[in-house]
Amino acid sequence: MTCVHCDDTGSLSKDLEGYLDCSHCDVATERAALEAWAARERIQYGSESSIWLIYQHGKAAAAAK
Ligand SMILES: [Zn+2]
Repeated sequence: MTCVHCDDTGSLSKDLEGYLDCSHCDVATERAALEAWAARERIQYGSESSIWLIYQHGKAAAAAK
């Protein structure tokens, strides 16, 4: 389900590069946790927003099973 306030970006600006300020869904929290994990694991990726897109894709694929 897509959040109407942030379009699943976690940002009220609906911009993937925007500040994670949406409090209407869990995306801002989820993205913060994901980015913390990626930093901890030293995951190599282009940007915080690209790893979020990969993560969302993985979740969608898991849900489709
Ligand atoms: Zn939201």
